[in-house]
Amino acid sequence: MQKETIIPESKDIAFRDLIIKTPGGKNIPTCMQCGVCAGSCPVSHEMDYTPRQIVRMIQLGLKKEVLNSNTIWICTTCFSCSVRCPRGIYPTELMETLKPIAMKEGIKNRNTKFDKIFADVVKKNGRASEFLLISKYSISEPGMIKQVPFGLELMSKGKLPLSIDKMDDLRELDSIFGLGEKTGIQEKTQSKEKPPEIKENDSDSQEAEK
Ligand code: SF4
Ligand code: SF4
Repeated sequence: MQKETIIPESKDIAFRDLIIKTPGGKNIPTCMQCGVCAGSCPVSHEMDYTPRQIVRMIQLGLKKEVLNSNTIWICTTCFSCSVRCPRGIYPTELMETLKPIAMKEGIKNRNTKFDKIFADVVKKNGRASEFLLISKYSISEPGMIKQVPFGLELMSKGKLPLSIDKMDDLRELDSIFGLGEKTGIQEKTQSKEKPPEIKENDSDSQEAEK
């Protein structure tokens, strides 16, 4: 469900500048709010802010609103927005950049919870076991109790195997995760390229979204 109006609580220019230095962020200042990204997004109806709004919120330095948005977790990384943006902005990359920042800032919601459980299961087994994922998430999210009958039905039809598949050798996976943790957001922000100037009076056109 989308909110109607964004009321800026605070402008965090350091946050804006940090994001502009990340992959996909260089052209954020040139966003003209055409809405092509939001109009192309297959899951924008589930987001509290569309990709167009997220880009504008970054321009405005609305750190708290951006990082608490469910948009960054709902994104399926389908790249539709990125390949269509007429200004060469990559909202897909931005979503991936914003996730670890939100985690680092200690933001907790059902999406961050699921993401952490998913990563833990994959780290431990090398596979995304559906049974482990669902059972761990259900324990941590009380609302999931309603899904128990559905889960049992899936099990009875053999659609939710109880067996837990494991990789033979987890050492390679450990080194991949280790590398990812080492590089992190710091490395992503080392671009020396000067971004374009931000125009505060950019149009708020939302035509392409409709
Ligand atoms: S497609 Fe989205 S990010 Fe690109 S210019 Fe239009 S509104 Fe901005
Ligand atoms: S990459 Fe994410 S934000 Fe972009 S269109 Fe796909 S789901 Fe929407």
